[in-house]
Amino acid sequence: MKITQVRAVPMSDPVPVERRHRTDLGTKVKTDSAIIFVDTDTGLTGMGAALGNPGVVQAIVEHELGPDIVGEDPMFSERIYEKLYNGSRFRPAMERGWQQPEPSRRRGMVMEAIAGVDIAVWDVKAQALGVPVYQALGAVRSEVRAYGSGGWAPGDEAEAEMAGYAAKGFSAVKMRVVGRDGFSIENTVRRVRAARRGIGPDVELMVDAHGSLDVSTAVRLSKALEEYDIAWFEEPVSPDDHHGQGLVRQATKIPIASGEREFTRHDFLDLMEHGALDIAQPDVARAGGFTEIRRIAALTSTRQVRLAPHAWGSGVLFAASIHVAMAAANCHILEVSQGYMPMIWELFEEPFDIRPDGTVHAPEKPGLGFTLRPDALEKFKYLPGPEYEW
Ligand SMILES: [Mg+2]
Repeated sequence: MKITQVRAVPMSDPVPVERRHRTDLGTKVKTDSAIIFVDTDTGLTGMGAALGNPGVVQAIVEHELGPDIVGEDPMFSERIYEKLYNGSRFRPAMERGWQQPEPSRRRGMVMEAIAGVDIAVWDVKAQALGVPVYQALGAVRSEVRAYGSGGWAPGDEAEAEMAGYAAKGFSAVKMRVVGRDGFSIENTVRRVRAARRGIGPDVELMVDAHGSLDVSTAVRLSKALEEYDIAWFEEPVSPDDHHGQGLVRQATKIPIASGEREFTRHDFLDLMEHGALDIAQPDVARAGGFTEIRRIAALTSTRQVRLAPHAWGSGVLFAASIHVAMAAANCHILEVSQGYMPMIWELFEEPFDIRPDGTVHAPEKPGLGFTLRPDALEKFKYLPGPEYEW
């Protein structure tokens, strides 16, 4: 089997005005994603997803990464990843046995594009093998516990919002620390108290600060939230302050989670070397695809750090995240978006198998296991402009 062409299609999922709400990131007007297609001479095509600006990702994939791997055999998926990561020094890197990455490919949008290509390579490889991706990776389970992820409601409205997630069957739910009504410690405590009231004592509650606090505020907030039995405090500080996140972790009994904005195992090693991590949240469409996320899972398991894949934005990304969860022994829970996101739920012919007991079940078809609806690319056509407005 040989790769004949690599293509990318930029996509957008606009949020209707009445469903828009303000967070610390601004007002979300759309969700963007790029779908990557890897065509082969067998007629099989693989599908992947990449975060990052989808128009830029398309250019990177079609002008730079794709031509590098035309002619490669998708069964050699590690080789393809290393070829993309190392660029022109791929050959000496493989001969010497250490990586010599092309400067622009280590992180950022180029790594996001590499991640998307890697997902598509694994999809087509698993289709050729006749098994789902998670079985090609090495299955550890075929169902996983899920958590309802959202929680933007202001003030005491958090009670009904989070109770609604629990009523869907989720045994764990996550809320944003910065809601629609802005941030203060007092307001956050009020919202978290309301959420705990809404879900009762038996449902796990997580909080997410989107990396928006400084160390001292994050420490003060963690102290104020400890009595509400928080399962993890996500991105308390900037993802560029691993040292600061380590300080927060030392100061609180609440486990610390992060990783959705990190790239490759090198970032996760740095987080662990700073003592900054209890739960790792790599995004398969950013951190490096199946190939690299499998390495991240192995690496983090050495410090008993658990894996909770970040999964947000598109059905392809969510499908890939399901396969990650089924193949990583240290994955304990998977994110299920409760935001407005038709590009997750209306992209495929097949529905996702999310059960009333709050578990997600693996697809059983070969590859990623999902088929694009005939109108999907037209329906979610790319709209230029930023995702958030301030
Ligand atoms: Mg988050």
